Formats: sequence, structure tokens, C-alpha cells
Amino acid sequence: ENPSSFVGVPDTDYAEEEQRNEANLALQNVRQQLGRTYLPLINGEYVQTQQVVDSVNPSNFSEVVGKIALLSVEQAEQAMQAAKAAFPAWRKTPVKERAGILRKAADLMEQRRAELSVWIVLEVGKPVREADGEVSEAIDFCRYYASEMERLDQGFNYDVAGETNRYIYQPRGIAVVISPWNFPLAIATGMTVAALVTGNCTLLKPAETSSVIAAKLTEVLVDAGFPKGVFQYVPGKGSQVGAYLVNHAYTHVIAFTGSQEVGCRIYADAAILKPGQKHMKRVIAEMGGKNAIIVDESADLDSAVVGVVQSAFGYSGQKCSACSRVVVLEPVYDTFVQRFVEATKSLNIGETELPSTQVGPVIDANARDRIREYIEKGKAEAKVALEMPAPDNGYFIGPVIFKDVPANGVIAQEEIFGPVVAVIKVKNFKEALEVANGTNYALTGGLYSRTPSHIEKAQDEFEVGNLYINRNITGAIVARQPFGGFKLSGVGSKAGGPDYLLQFTEPRTVTENI
Ligand code: NAP
Repeated sequence: ENPSSFVGVPDTDYAEEEQRNEANLALQNVRQQLGRTYLPLINGEYVQTQQVVDSVNPSNFSEVVGKIALLSVEQAEQAMQAAKAAFPAWRKTPVKERAGILRKAADLMEQRRAELSVWIVLEVGKPVREADGEVSEAIDFCRYYASEMERLDQGFNYDVAGETNRYIYQPRGIAVVISPWNFPLAIATGMTVAALVTGNCTLLKPAETSSVIAAKLTEVLVDAGFPKGVFQYVPGKGSQVGAYLVNHAYTHVIAFTGSQEVGCRIYADAAILKPGQKHMKRVIAEMGGKNAIIVDESADLDSAVVGVVQSAFGYSGQKCSACSRVVVLEPVYDTFVQRFVEATKSLNIGETELPSTQVGPVIDANARDRIREYIEKGKAEAKVALEMPAPDNGYFIGPVIFKDVPANGVIAQEEIFGPVVAVIKVKNFKEALEVANGTNYALTGGLYSRTPSHIEKAQDEFEVGNLYINRNITGAIVARQPFGGFKLSGVGSKAGGPDYLLQFTEPRTVTENI
């Protein structure tokens, strides 16, 4: 299959009554199941642990979505041993069979789509349409990586007279997947199934605040048929169990998505050779962003305003791809700011299970407090153009727009990961690009312009992994917009793209003289 011919699964159409009813039913069913306990999966068994923590609904923190049993370091060690024991057989399992299990997982997720969306809505406070899109992404990752592995499995022949040369890919060994809470299903699924389909035994350590969804993914992967020890679900404290797994001598690959701080730490830890370790570890680290959209004087302001609002406040700004800086050229600056403020005022803020909600809560109390601190810092260095009120029964923060922000200000440089946007005024397009490129990050970026020379210059000089021209900058689709950044936004090749699986393999050349 040509990778570019991949077609993703369609999202739910909530305009259809039947699909809406199914969503409502799923909400009622999931509500009956709130508060259950989820156990780690080690060597095919769900095991009890000493420590159990609550995972709460960020829209209403008195509601416990589920109880998460966190494993100890000793149990993490048992999981490592089980992975090592399972590796020889998994390594030899034909690619066709491994890919078949991924396709089965995709089918199961499709059957459970409405239910999985509800878990996302309730556990991480994502509005339902965006949660539904995330389920589509998870399904797409399974199907795309299944066909990608079949493509790689063909290898290459570089034969010459009297000599055959086979170029083949083998698995690396044991993969540790450490996932973030903001795409609790899609990112956890993508990293996990990529590691599995390439033949690695895989341990999934999800972010603590999204461990119920990871437990649901575990149910799907077990039902799809991954053998015991091949896939294990190992929820635990990142700084303890996560760090233990990263530092383990058996670990070959670490697939991490999360903050720059933790990613850099993992990269450094992974470089240290441990007693008994006979290989170097491969680290894939997808990290943060401080993504800018440039609006030039020729931009269609109608679409620029819509695109910036979506990019900045979708999922309350908690996407790594979210727009947190808008760089606007002087001639259109005042008009843009005024219209951006007006459009933002019309957003509905509230509990995510209500279909009308456009902006939900932020993930937890730590995030809320951190974002509030940034808002205070913003007030010290820029002007408030809008500060919206928000309910207080959950971890809500109303959208905030700062204008006249200095390009080197704190709120223009640091990833806030909330519904806070810095609007920066520039004199010309050259300065716009300098400002846009003037952070440590290079993840996504956007340009609204009808000037061909500007579009061309941005393609060439805008330092981002994913550049979007005249559209919003979030919502990358598997095998259409392979996703990932560079600079301090990450190391590794793009998720949902043709190079992604290579990172989980060890290429070998076998030459035979005939
Ligand atoms: P985070 O705080 O870095 O946590 C990510 C994961 O790392 C969690 O599972 C966490 O576990 C674990 N962890 C924490 N300390 C660790 C350690 N010392 N060793 C090993 N693992 C450790 O990030 P987050 O708050 O979940 O996610 C938000 C961040 O992710 C943002 O910066 C966002 O930009 C970034 N992100 C990037 C992409 C991308 O594709 N580039 C996509 C999505 C998100 P605990 O939860 O138990 O602490």
C-alpha cells in the first residue's frame, strides 16, 4: 500500500440523530461505571497494588472517574522480567500476525468509539467532538502502522552478480512508552502500537491523570490478542516508576511525549550505560511548543480570526500544537485584536459532557494554579485585552488574551499550556518571522496571508515541524499531516508518518556470496 493512499476513519456525525442517541446512551452507561478500580497488567495478570489514587473529572472534581492502582518499583521490575521473557517469541511472530492484532484493536476501538469518547470527556475534560476526533486518530494509528510495518517487512534487495544483499528490519527489544494526559488515547495508542508492531515488548506508563483511559486501551489491546508479557500496562508515578523503567538496563527504546523538562531529563538518563547493559538506548521525545500564527496585512481576517480562536482555545489551549502567540502586522493589528476578542467572547465555557461546550476545564489544580501565575506575569508585562470569567466547580480558566506583548516576555516565551494567548505587534513580515522563530521551540506554526512571496518565505524560513497556511494549526491527521517538531520541541521522526516505525527497529544487512 502506498502510504499516501491511506484513508482515515470518519468522525462521528453528531448531526445524525442516531449517532447522537448512541453518544447519549454511552454517556449514561459510562456514568454507571464511574469510581471503579483499575489494576496494572503484568505478564497477563491484573495485579493488586499497595497504592491507589483517584482520577477525578476536571469539570467537577468531586466526581471520581476511576481509582488507579499504582504499581511499585518491585512490580515494575517484574514487568520488565516478563517483557524480557516474552521477547524471543514476539520477535519471531510473523509481521502479518502482529499487524492483524493492530487491525483487530482498531476494529474494537471503532465498536467502542462512543464509550471511549465519554471516558476522554470525563477523565481529562475534553469537549466531546474533540474526544471523538481523538478516537479516530487512535484507530488510524493502528491501521496505518499495521500497513507501514507490512511495507517495511518487505525490506530491500541490493543484489549484484554472484552476491545477494538483503536489507531487513528487526525489533530492538523492550520499549518503554511514557505518555501525556492531553491526548490520553491517541498518543498512548500511537506510541504503543508502533513499538508492538515492530516486534518490541512494550510497557505503557501513562500520565497519572489519564490512567483510566489507558486502562481502557489496555482492555482493547488484550482483547485484540497481544500475548502476555508482550504488552503490559504499568501505571505509576512518573518520577519513580517512569524513571526506573527509563534507567533499566533492559530498556532499548523509550518513546516519550510530554514536557520539555521531563523529555530532556529522560534523554540524559537514557544516555548512561547501566551495569549489564550491552546497547545504547534510543530515545524518541516529543515535547512542547510555543506556537505562533502570523497574520499579515493581506490576510483574510474572517478566516484568521476563526483559525486563531480554534487553535488557541480548542481543548483550553492544552494541545502541544495550540497557538499561544499571534504575531500581527501593524496595519491590521488593532482590527485583528478587536475581532479576535469579540469572537472569543462568544465561546461557551463549561462542563465537557454538555454538547454545547467549546472550552472545558484545564486538567488539574496544579495546571490551574500554574496558568494563573502566568496570567499574573502577563499582567505585569502586557495589556489585558480579554479575561473571561469561568465556573468554579471544576478546574476552569476563562480564555485570556494579552495584547502588546513584548516578543521576549515570559508569556511570549514559555509554554503555558492553557487558554492564554499573547498577541505581538510587528512592523513588517521580516520581523514577524524573526519573532515567530524567536523561541526554543519548533513545533507548529501558521500563516494567514494572500501574498505569495510571504507564503514562500514562510515555507522556507518558518522554523516549525508542521506549518499550516491559511488554516488552523491543530488537528493533524495520521498519514496526511505527519506530526512532530524539532529544536527543543523534540527528537524523533514524525508520528503518523513514513519514518516513524524505523525508530523502533534495528536495520541489518545480510550479504551472501553465491
Ligand atoms: P509531563 O509532565 O512531562 O508528563 C509526561 C509523562 O512523563 C507522564 O506520563 C509523567 O508521569 C511522566 N514522567 C514525569 N516525570 C518523569 C520522569 N522523571 N521519568 C519518566 N517519566 C516521567 O507532560 P504532561 O503534562 O503529561 O503533558 C503536557 C506536555 O506534553 C506539554 O508540554 C505538551 O506540549 C507536550 N506534548 C507534546 C506533544 C508532541 O507531539 N510534541 C504531544 C502532546 C503533548 P506522571 O503523570 O506520573 O508524572
